[in-house]
Amino acid sequence: MVFDIDMIKKLYAALPGKVEATRKLLGRPLTLAEKILYAHLYAPTTSSYERGKSYVEFAPDRVAMQDATAQMALLQFMTCGRASVAVPSTVHCDHLIQAKTGAAEDLATAINTNKEVYDFLSSISDKYGIGFWKPGAGIIHQVVLENYAFPGGMMIGTDSHTPNAGGLGMLAIGVGGADAVDVMAGLAWELKMPKLIGVKLTGKLSGWASPKDVILRVAGILTVKGGTGCIVEYFGEGADSMSATGKGTICNMGAEIGATCSVFAYDQKMSDYLKITSRAEVAELADGVREHLRPDEAVYQNPDKFYDQVIEINLDELEPYVNGPFTPDLAWPISKFAQAVKENNWPEKLEVALIGSCTNSSYEDISRSASLAKQAIDKKLKVHSEFTITPGSELVRYTIERDGLLNTFDQIGGVVLANACGPCIGQWARHIDDPNRKNSIITSFNRNFAKRNDGLASTHAFVASPEIVTALAIAGDLTFNPLTDTLKNVNGEDVKLDEPTGFELPPKGFDVKDAGYQAPAADGSGVEVIVSPTSDRLQLLAPFKPWEGTDLKGLKLLIKAKGKCTTDHISMAGPWLKYRGHLDNISNNMLIGAINAYNDKTDNVKNQLSGEYGAVPATARAYKAANVGSIVVGDENYGEGSSREHAAMEPRHLGVRAILVKSFARIHETNLKKQGMLALTFNDKDDYEKVQEDDTIDIIGLTSFAPGKSLTVVLYHSNGTEDSITVNHTYNEQQIEWFKAGGALNVIRAQFAA
Ligand code: SF4
Repeated sequence: MVFDIDMIKKLYAALPGKVEATRKLLGRPLTLAEKILYAHLYAPTTSSYERGKSYVEFAPDRVAMQDATAQMALLQFMTCGRASVAVPSTVHCDHLIQAKTGAAEDLATAINTNKEVYDFLSSISDKYGIGFWKPGAGIIHQVVLENYAFPGGMMIGTDSHTPNAGGLGMLAIGVGGADAVDVMAGLAWELKMPKLIGVKLTGKLSGWASPKDVILRVAGILTVKGGTGCIVEYFGEGADSMSATGKGTICNMGAEIGATCSVFAYDQKMSDYLKITSRAEVAELADGVREHLRPDEAVYQNPDKFYDQVIEINLDELEPYVNGPFTPDLAWPISKFAQAVKENNWPEKLEVALIGSCTNSSYEDISRSASLAKQAIDKKLKVHSEFTITPGSELVRYTIERDGLLNTFDQIGGVVLANACGPCIGQWARHIDDPNRKNSIITSFNRNFAKRNDGLASTHAFVASPEIVTALAIAGDLTFNPLTDTLKNVNGEDVKLDEPTGFELPPKGFDVKDAGYQAPAADGSGVEVIVSPTSDRLQLLAPFKPWEGTDLKGLKLLIKAKGKCTTDHISMAGPWLKYRGHLDNISNNMLIGAINAYNDKTDNVKNQLSGEYGAVPATARAYKAANVGSIVVGDENYGEGSSREHAAMEPRHLGVRAILVKSFARIHETNLKKQGMLALTFNDKDDYEKVQEDDTIDIIGLTSFAPGKSLTVVLYHSNGTEDSITVNHTYNEQQIEWFKAGGALNVIRAQFAA
């Protein structure tokens, strides 16, 4: 079930040859990231790729999807005609569980509320050979670390904290659903060759300092944008001295500096973790190719030569950090934090302290936090904040319950939440007397943007290690520094907390009764995918129609969008998230955030058939019903923002035939091409001004559509005049086939039908 050992054997067998070939190709020693990247090329290359410039096609080993993003990804995958996924893939039910009272009740409520989504995900996983982790099984990244991550591998996941698997030496990258569809369908996955940041860790963590403090410090140095387009590679004796789960925490939060992903080299700690999580065979195989799962020795000697940027952190001197509020890169060493709280007038009283999540719920994290909870009991300290514990997986939860750690938390009033995202993603029914009152919370999670945890703009959220979060929960006061300060116990005595202690790995091993895994059917051909025809959250997709083989004539201008038009303007999030698995329903948000260039209003455009003004989706539907194609015109960098495929699928669904803009955000442009849409740019950007509100539009030249060859757009204005303008495109041969077939998945389906 769990991992595909044959795939790992194959990869490792080919690894020495591929690494040597890459060394020859680049003519120098290699970093670890380069070894893994070049070992995962979709097709062999004879030329090297330029970091930060070249677009490269990769063949990842695995795909992981969480329940919110998996819905549309799998609905699309279904239409490609494959009997099963091309690479091992898993679905994890973690995002839809709301934290309210405690694990058992909250889980039962979620299973009831989201039944149709879970039934769909379970049945479609069963049919297409996808491992399904039920609600309550755990959070995607923790489950991946425990079961699937392996040194030297490459995976993509439809969640931004997928890089967590870098803790086991894997290049693991967060992507949108459309990318997951490509890889599951057997297509290449494209990424701009990342730049490399090296982080050299010297010394060794001790006392209150933890791996979390490493990444909180790095976030302070690099800021939330500093890792954009980069892989962060950690190395040095300090790296090798940290537990694999601690490494995972650091890689997880690489997302907070915008990094493509982060990675550590294979070492004894990883081997130990693989063995204790029932993967001794993987550890043994990895030992056999150990030198290829680490950077070349010369890289250690002279890192500046091989990385684009190098940072050095001495773990011997590292203080615990508290980052926030409102951004994870506002980094305060604990010795300076109390002063910052006072100077900035942040609420000193700590109302809720939350530990766990995918970022920090390892046995090490929990046992060290529990050692502090135990001290609170022994030293007769009252715990002043609300305190919650979110285990990252059932494996962790069961083990920490068996070992009495949950009981310790229970004794200080801790509430155990479901093994799910909960308060980390705003799925938290927080009890607060006045939602407008300024208040402080602290978590061991990763993100702390305004409203992220509880939806309240008044909440000041800070991020720290689970040890610091637990100590501050006991104090109930943000200005408490557990390294230096004392607390009054119930007898009125001043007592000090000792440094936390714990175990990297459970001394009695891990244990679990029911991990919550459902293996797919060996032959899924007879399995029926469960989608109720009356559901408003899920809808099976029909393949888009192929191109009719002629130029497109008589199109109506749907909207000329002015200024910024991001994927949020095109397909808004918030309340619409609920419909991410229902293309027709979510299409009612299409372009409702875009500004109409003719009246400066949002969601108000002229319907040329009726002459009336109305909502963009309703107007598009009117054209579609009348069998009239439409066209969207946009400004610069159209479609920037997230990689959400809905922003390309919705216009396609509502009969838009082309998007013509001054320039595209690249991912959105590719998404449009994949959905069989025409993505065009003005040859002369000033021609944007020539487009008028009542225009009827032809697109000419499609019968000889070819790479590098411009097309012509004719604008027929309502006063009888016309403008003929040149438009460009970036379609290659393959992408033109996608357009002709009506979408990339139709091309794959045709291959499987042949
Ligand atoms: Fe994302 Fe938080 Fe869930 Fe982790 S716990 S997967 S960061 S929402």
